[in-house]
Amino acid sequence: MARYIGSVCRFCRREAMKLFLKGGRCFTDKCAIERRNYPPGQHGQRRQKISDYGFQLREKQKVKRTYGLLEQQFRGYFHKAVRQKGVTGENLLQLLERRLDNLVYRMGFAPSRRAARQLVRHGHFLVNGRRVDIPSYLVKVGDEVALKEQSRQNALIQETLAGYARKELPAWLQMEWEQCKGKVLNLPTREEIALPVQEQLIVELYSK
Ligand code: SF4
Repeated sequence: MARYIGSVCRFCRREAMKLFLKGGRCFTDKCAIERRNYPPGQHGQRRQKISDYGFQLREKQKVKRTYGLLEQQFRGYFHKAVRQKGVTGENLLQLLERRLDNLVYRMGFAPSRRAARQLVRHGHFLVNGRRVDIPSYLVKVGDEVALKEQSRQNALIQETLAGYARKELPAWLQMEWEQCKGKVLNLPTREEIALPVQEQLIVELYSK
């Protein structure tokens, strides 16, 4: 599958907010948002009037880029969210949170979703005791995600777990740190998804 391999810091600069795509660097003064908080490109520092469509587009891009998805994949999640009962915008965010790579990141095994995706791809995790190497795998309530015994010495994982104190474990997850495993207690509510976006604008954008 195609993937973006350019600079991700320009995404944060474009959205004028930290999307935390680079792990530890995002918490230092080397962060591009700290140094150049204006949109990238030749005309980045020009003032621009944003239309309603522009606001909707920016909200969509923020979410899409936060979870590291391409347009087609993101649209797929939207259509799935539409088919579910409840509020479409919230369903969309809940689906994205249920991705295995996001869970590995939220549980503190990886410094960023991008790194989490690579760890999952390399087969370091078990879901309910079975190896799963698909980052888009959707976890369910009660699922247990564990680091493989043989992967416990992985330097990146150890380093990230050691520095996990700066992040908070979401209330919908439970961790057993010594066992390097965690459990999904319930699906996250909108309040439990710490993402400063107006998901309703994404629904409006795709509903045109
Ligand atoms: Fe965004 Fe992190 Fe880059 Fe800062 S360091 S601009 S938060 S990806």
